Amino acid sequence: MLLLLLVAFTSCTKNQRSENDYPILPASPQQVELRDQFWTKRMATSRKVTVPYCFAKCEETHRIANFEVAGGLLEGTFEGIRYNDSDVFKIMEGAAYLLQQEYDPELDKYLDDLIFKIAAAQEDDGYLYTIRTIKGDSAMTMREGKQRWSEVRNHSHELYNMGHMYEAAVAHFNATGKRNFLEIALKNADLIASVYGPDKRHDAPGHQEIEIGLVKLYRTTGKKKYLDLARFFLDERGKSDIRNYASSSPWENGAYWQDHKPVTEQDEAVGHAVRAVYMYSGMADVAALDGNQQYIDAIHRIWENVTGKKYYITGGIGALYEGEAFGENYQLPNRAYNETCAAIANVFWNHRMFLMSGESKYIDVLERSLYNAVLPGISFEGNTFFYPNVLEHDGNDPFNQGAANRKPWFDCSCCPANLARFIPALPNYFYAQAGDEIFVNLYAASTASFNIRKRDIHIEQHTKYPWEGNIRVVVSIDNPVDFTLKLRIPGWAQNKPVPGDLYSYLPENEIPVRLFINHEPADIDTVKGYVALTRTWKQGDEVELVLPMAVRKVVPNIQITELTGKVAIERGPLVYCAEQADNPAGVLNKPRDTGTTFQAVFEPNLLQGIVKLKAADGFSMIPYYSWSHRTPGEMAVWFPEASSKMAEKSQL
Ligand SMILES: [Zn+2]
Repeated sequence: MLLLLLVAFTSCTKNQRSENDYPILPASPQQVELRDQFWTKRMATSRKVTVPYCFAKCEETHRIANFEVAGGLLEGTFEGIRYNDSDVFKIMEGAAYLLQQEYDPELDKYLDDLIFKIAAAQEDDGYLYTIRTIKGDSAMTMREGKQRWSEVRNHSHELYNMGHMYEAAVAHFNATGKRNFLEIALKNADLIASVYGPDKRHDAPGHQEIEIGLVKLYRTTGKKKYLDLARFFLDERGKSDIRNYASSSPWENGAYWQDHKPVTEQDEAVGHAVRAVYMYSGMADVAALDGNQQYIDAIHRIWENVTGKKYYITGGIGALYEGEAFGENYQLPNRAYNETCAAIANVFWNHRMFLMSGESKYIDVLERSLYNAVLPGISFEGNTFFYPNVLEHDGNDPFNQGAANRKPWFDCSCCPANLARFIPALPNYFYAQAGDEIFVNLYAASTASFNIRKRDIHIEQHTKYPWEGNIRVVVSIDNPVDFTLKLRIPGWAQNKPVPGDLYSYLPENEIPVRLFINHEPADIDTVKGYVALTRTWKQGDEVELVLPMAVRKVVPNIQITELTGKVAIERGPLVYCAEQADNPAGVLNKPRDTGTTFQAVFEPNLLQGIVKLKAADGFSMIPYYSWSHRTPGEMAVWFPEASSKMAEKSQL
């Protein structure tokens, strides 16, 4: 079966990459095997728990029955929210990634059964929106759109749902070689392409996502009309003559869904964070394919704005509960919204920015968001979730949609479904290749295979990252080959927590990064944030990178008024927090002397194995991603500085 799958994979990747695409290609999950203690546990939990659990919740909550009812396979009516179809698609996408990595006949059959129901729910001309098919136009409200497409630019989410279907269908095709799901997607995309276009209907989709899906359909089929449609939807934004928004919205000029200006004129991240960042990702995809420099310039400007003014130390984005939206510049309250989906979207976007540029700063942002904003969203058990992610908690505040801890599901369950598709795709982010350059972006014990000038190259990475900073990369090769091995030197290891000046580290006795090639010390000259080792590599060649795992104290930019005089603690790529479970006297507003020294101790039986930070006075901290797994109590990431001397420094 593995052979069959490989054949299927090879045959269907033929069309996936035109010459004009991202110059860097991520190493696929077929090329990468994670062998570490940190991520493999999460991947296994995704396979054993999260994906089947989320499918079960979709059955329990009528999300799947909606397809059956729409398809005439079941008596009943529509139940739930109009965009619940998208949750099913997202979980199917995650299931397809699982299938691609390891064939599972039961999962394959489950997906085929689901695809049968989705096909039944699709109307003859390709339209798919179960609520309308079941209830009919006469029962539709303004939010759903009284007629097809009538509320696309506001709330109907008809196109949003379809974007997720396209992503899932492409993932399923790539995993199985079967066209049953892909044909449903193409039939729908053909319908939408017949309705929308320069001389047809015009709408800027209210919730972006279809743009990303259409690009994937283009890569899979080579049909340019899908790419053109993605670009069309992006270019529809900011055309004021067709806007007609409810005046009660605080973003009545369309900024809520990034429709206030043409995308090429946007320079600040505003409005609903997930919509915004899906849009920036879609712009990156289209620009990678057609070289649209105006798109590239715009997403660079917006990226500078996000990382320089709207980015939490945890890598979360989207500060406000109202509208699930970005705040003003430097408006970063600790009672943050920080939707888990927005953190996932930030990983998607920054990965694309890297694939376009080869610059490590994007992976720095990706890494911070991955460990400290995506991962907190899901429990170790894999079946409870955060939707918002706060940086401070009193133990009682029901910030998580009515709960003070992770919840098993939500009425709008975008975040669990997004995690169900994100975690199985994790191997995508570790390595990449551009011609004869191999990028090692994220560190974890793993193996990866590449082909350079028809030679197979295997890389083995040995490390206990994120707990230890020693990374040994061993090359395995039949005959010597010339290539460039690029190892990312994280910003945090060079005294720079973020690319801009939003946060900085208090000065410490900095231990430099060290590098050894075949056990000999080597110089570290970075290009675009990577140490680039070009040589004729031979069997057994070994590179060792030693990243200093000091405990670092972070101070905020003075313009973040909420954090004036506060300090946060990091070690390696991880942001730390303090919980009452370790500090019985509580942790909120308890000043810390920034001169505090911490002992880093690996505790294998605590919170699935973590490095705990312990101060001499008994104060102790855990990685932020692991909070809310024990007795509820206070939690804090930022602490008032006890030392006025240090307070002065933070004002600099
Ligand atoms: Zn969400």
